[in-house]
Amino acid sequence: MQFHHTACPHDCPSTCALEVERLDAHRIGRVRGARDNSYTAGVICSKVARYAERIHHPDRLTRPLRRTGAKGTGAFEPIGWDDALDVVAEAFLDAERRLGPETVWPYFYAGTMGLVMRDGINRLRHAKRYSGEHATICVTLAWNGYIAGTGRLSGVDPREMAKSDVVVIWGTNAAATQINVMTHALAARRDRGAKIVVVDTYRNATAKQADLFVCVKPGTDGALACAVMHVLFRDGLADRDYLERYTDCPRELEAHLATRTPAWASAICGASVETIEAFAHLVGRHPRTYFRLGYGFSRQRNGAVNMHAAASIPAVTGAWRHEGGGALHNNGAIYHWDRTLIDGLDVRDPTVRLLDQSRIGAVLTGEPFALAGGPPVTAMLIQNTNPMSVAPDQNRVRQGFARDDLFVCVHEQFMTETARVADILLPATMFLEHDDLYQSGGHQHIHLGPRIVEPPGECRSNHDVICALAKRVGAQHRGFGMTPRAIIDWTLRNSGWGGIEDLERNHWIDAQPAFDDAHFINGFAHADGRFRFAPDWPALRPAGFVDDGTTHAMPRLPDHWNVIENATAEMPFRLVTAPARNFLNSTFTETPTSQRRERRPTLLLHPADAARLAIADGDLVEVSNGRGRLTLHAEHFDGVQPGVVVAESIWPNAAYAGGAGINVLTGADPAAPVGGAAFHDNRVRVARA
Ligand code: SF4
Repeated sequence: MQFHHTACPHDCPSTCALEVERLDAHRIGRVRGARDNSYTAGVICSKVARYAERIHHPDRLTRPLRRTGAKGTGAFEPIGWDDALDVVAEAFLDAERRLGPETVWPYFYAGTMGLVMRDGINRLRHAKRYSGEHATICVTLAWNGYIAGTGRLSGVDPREMAKSDVVVIWGTNAAATQINVMTHALAARRDRGAKIVVVDTYRNATAKQADLFVCVKPGTDGALACAVMHVLFRDGLADRDYLERYTDCPRELEAHLATRTPAWASAICGASVETIEAFAHLVGRHPRTYFRLGYGFSRQRNGAVNMHAAASIPAVTGAWRHEGGGALHNNGAIYHWDRTLIDGLDVRDPTVRLLDQSRIGAVLTGEPFALAGGPPVTAMLIQNTNPMSVAPDQNRVRQGFARDDLFVCVHEQFMTETARVADILLPATMFLEHDDLYQSGGHQHIHLGPRIVEPPGECRSNHDVICALAKRVGAQHRGFGMTPRAIIDWTLRNSGWGGIEDLERNHWIDAQPAFDDAHFINGFAHADGRFRFAPDWPALRPAGFVDDGTTHAMPRLPDHWNVIENATAEMPFRLVTAPARNFLNSTFTETPTSQRRERRPTLLLHPADAARLAIADGDLVEVSNGRGRLTLHAEHFDGVQPGVVVAESIWPNAAYAGGAGINVLTGADPAAPVGGAAFHDNRVRVARA
């Protein structure tokens, strides 16, 4: 048997280097982590280790289908590829004739992280002047909070954790969602006695491995970070030399923090004063503290402010100076890609409107602000995402997709909730069935993902579909006439990473910047080289983004920005919709092992709350708010603060009695400074069903 090198394509910062056993031209066997990749180090998650279960699943879509019954009923008939593509092209051309090109909205996200297959849809968008997509559903709040301070989306090599005295894992359940963080953090503890601190909203799999667990209420990380910095200044643990040399306004920050005491923060975040003091002393007395800041920050209305506040701590301690110290959120900026070919940037018209993907419900139901004053969306191509399940404000999303005047083409691997509302449904390849190129968010490797097996049935790749549609709708770009390998080769060469043959030979590129760049020793990535405690939030807005005014209300300095959905007497609980270990958003919900391990949709509820509401362990409960209601089973759980409930997600909607999934409860209002969906920031009521 032969093992082939590739990379995990899923929406996970680990982007593991994989070795996949090829049994024959059509079948794979074992999947394992590459031992000689210094980040993956032979460790991958169990859901990808059993990938044969997913790629050879009997329910894969293998033929193009045309809807025959009412939308959403799942009534389809087979159709040939040419006919299917003709129907889609004619629907797009007809929509364009009636309302202009902006009425067509290509919609995608991170079902695959391969740059060619994920982002090629933008080339079609740009060549045709179709509506833009503001990709806010996951990273926007966290990325902008980090960049607001450092000026660049990059950080310290995560392999340096081996040299850390303290590893702070904040806002990410790494044991469940990016296992390699634990590999390196646990090695630091094993080899040099490092302490692991976890900050999160519930005692998840990562928190269980912590030396110190700081349990906070959702959306209160900014208060915790401020109190930590208060203690650092108060107790002489701030690196004043570093502050003077590398930061913008340390004295103003210190004065501002004088009232942000541990007692003040404790009343907001729920962690005890003693815990906050212990956390502050741990990071203050160990400058080699590594802050691994995760995407939990992205799920709160004040998430950008919270991320910025947490990222400010290593600037106060001067941790950035030290090997094993500093912070990492995402390394997106280190790859310096030339994305001209992949995205069709050379034909992009910047005046075309930008629609917020998280606000798809508002867009499809015709809210004028969401439509940026333009025409309604009447035609969509959807690749790599399942908005009928994963998008917030799901009732509104459903209402939008139910419109009779909306034509939807979905290109998918399984019959997802979104696939069920398609007019034309096209079968898509999986990552082992096409060529692609990957970059790692949580580390520093570029990987090649070659085609290893043949796709089943009539499945075609995203690139094939985009090129075939481009031809039919008259979209012009040289990328539509190139193979994925040719695009990969051009992109690598023009980005300074050699050619595809080099990557094929070496399997990956270690793109780690030099120590001084990663640690910002030569200055942070602002014009004055200083970390900004006082960010210029409005400067973070992308071209075409329409601000609803909230950006100007953001605090000048790190703080608790109280714009979250606080509990009320009527809705006394705050709901976190954290990721389930065996799912990845809605991916893997189709595999029997993941279903079995996750058991059923469950609400984790503090025993004191359960007793007050007379809810027994295992009772069916109704959770509701102004946006929707659903039922699921309660589980008593003391690893959460009273008043906070957790539903690990994302189960298919049909897994809930009544068919309403978790996102009927989540809001789609855009969070400052540039949008984003606050999936862990929902006030709800809970009652026995
Ligand atoms: S840990 Fe993440 S990147 Fe690694 S195999 Fe699992 S899903 Fe893929």
